[in-house]
Amino acid sequence: MPIYDFLCSECGTKRPVMVDYEAKKGLELICVQCGGVMRAMPVAMFNLIRSTKDKPPIERKVKACGHTHHCQCAAIKQSKPNPFQKQIDEALGNAENQ
Ligand SMILES: [Zn+2]
Ligand SMILES: [Zn+2]
Repeated sequence: MPIYDFLCSECGTKRPVMVDYEAKKGLELICVQCGGVMRAMPVAMFNLIRSTKDKPPIERKVKACGHTHHCQCAAIKQSKPNPFQKQIDEALGNAENQ
């Protein structure tokens, strides 16, 4: 059974209530805080609050490569072989032989 947020029209108290969709449409609850009438919050409004809350903040940081979007420049740089790798290997190989 889905859970809907019921909102008090008098004091704004929210309360999650487990009720099925058909039943919640005509359902009115008594607010425990003020005795006012609580009604199910419109689902559309609930979704709107959720979607804006979950949205990640837009980052506009300029990277070292000059791009502001998610680029692969850093990944390419890292996968590029070290131009001195051969010399390093030779040096290490020589060291082992000695
Ligand atoms: Zn209330
Ligand atoms: Zn880039």
